[in-house]
Amino acid sequence: MNNNTNPSGPRKIGKVTVVVDRNLCIGAASCVAVAPKIFALDNEAKAIFLPSAEEESFETLLDSAKSCPVAAIIITDETGKQIYP
Ligand code: SF4
Repeated sequence: MNNNTNPSGPRKIGKVTVVVDRNLCIGAASCVAVAPKIFALDNEAKAIFLPSAEEESFETLLDSAKSCPVAAIIITDETGKQIYP
């Protein structure tokens, strides 16, 4: 959707880094429903980050990751420790 070569991340959002595992993502779009400012689906039905992702709260980000039926949204903190899943 833009010139980002890694549209599914890793993307820094606030203090955490988020990546969508495109091999796991099945395009269920639960993440888009929970966090429409963070995620959209690309033309392969994989979740990608929107420019407005940085504006969203950590709670909504975490809720969107928890909503993913295949746990494809991986969140790590600033030390590289995996927070979710
Ligand atoms: S909820 Fe998970 S499987 Fe569905 S689009 Fe988002 S990342 Fe992909």
